[in-house]
Amino acid sequence: MFELNGFLQQQRDQDLYRTRKICEGKQRPEQVCDGKPLLSFCSNDYLGLAADARIVKSCQQATEQYGVGSGAAHLINGHTTAHHALEEELAAFTGRERALLFSTGYMANLGVVSALLDRKDVVIADKLVHASLIDAAKLSGARLLRYQHADMQSLQTHLENNTDTKKIIMTDGVFSMDGDLAPLPDIINQVGKNNSALMLDDAHGFGVLGQRGAGCVEHFDCNDDVDILVGTLGKAFGTFGAFVVGSDALIETLIQSARSYVFTTAMPAAIAEATRTSLKILQAASDRREKLQSLIQQFRIGAKQLGLTLMNTATPIQPVLVGSADKAVAMSQGLAAQGILVSAIRPPTVPDGTARLRITFSATHTEKQVEKLLGALESLQ
Ligand SMILES: *Cc1c(COP(=O)(O)O)cnc(C)c1O
Repeated sequence: MFELNGFLQQQRDQDLYRTRKICEGKQRPEQVCDGKPLLSFCSNDYLGLAADARIVKSCQQATEQYGVGSGAAHLINGHTTAHHALEEELAAFTGRERALLFSTGYMANLGVVSALLDRKDVVIADKLVHASLIDAAKLSGARLLRYQHADMQSLQTHLENNTDTKKIIMTDGVFSMDGDLAPLPDIINQVGKNNSALMLDDAHGFGVLGQRGAGCVEHFDCNDDVDILVGTLGKAFGTFGAFVVGSDALIETLIQSARSYVFTTAMPAAIAEATRTSLKILQAASDRREKLQSLIQQFRIGAKQLGLTLMNTATPIQPVLVGSADKAVAMSQGLAAQGILVSAIRPPTVPDGTARLRITFSATHTEKQVEKLLGALESLQ
């Protein structure tokens, strides 16, 4: 085996060394991690569905019915009535012709872009899109061009330079590290129909935005103008996996040639059944969405009074900008000492000099817990 310790030491020296906490029990705001009780503000379980008793029950019942493993890929004999029903329900929920399940969001993105583009083509991506979209573009072999974050002038320049090329324009709906929304109506205005497809990864928008929780396209009322829509099931849905929705031709193309779909085992049927229950709950969860909004507003008002630097966004992702990686780590450790779990996000996940605390909220947090967080942040100033 070749030498690895040089790299590891370098990560330590730069305060970039990552470690995992070992957490017990269900995903919820009050958890025991590394043997210590902690109040967490770092989960993507925005609606508090990850441990919902109704969803757990569906999963249990379906496990009895289908067993645990799906045993094969979808194209062999791993595609069950449960998967199929979920796909139909996701298509109806999103108002699309078809939906296709993937085992993770990462794999969905890899599969879509590499199935649709090759070396002759172009990807035009917002500078801050999720890592999986960048990896997807690279895997496809297409030329990757990035426009300045949410900057329509910069997008237009790339579009004008590539009018005749087949291309995918891609953006996150809610940006995972900044928590802001893509200016979708403006992007749609810019992107012509010719030779281009607009791809939206709304991992953090589904369940949170829109009356029915249908995410950014519902929020902006622009469902018809997004050609390829990706959602993940491991965030607000509280289960696991991902889906792509779009036209019949798009989904058929992915079934034929998305390698991360074809060459992998289908998600367990019980997860699909659990997600069917989750989808019903999520659509009707206006009360949870309202509760989430009120917690977010409570936090923002309190944080501004403390003079903290927030981003201009009302999503459950509320970054507090601190600057250097070591300061972000020190603050995260200071919060941990008071029993509060907030992740420090450092380069290379975010650009140099923009290290931050990434605070996320769930509808299952209480006002008291938000007060506790604000109090702890105040004590660290
Ligand atoms: C979480 C996330 C993914 C990856 O989804 P997984 O199901 O966790 O693999 C993709 N895109 C965005 C924007 C995400 O936030």
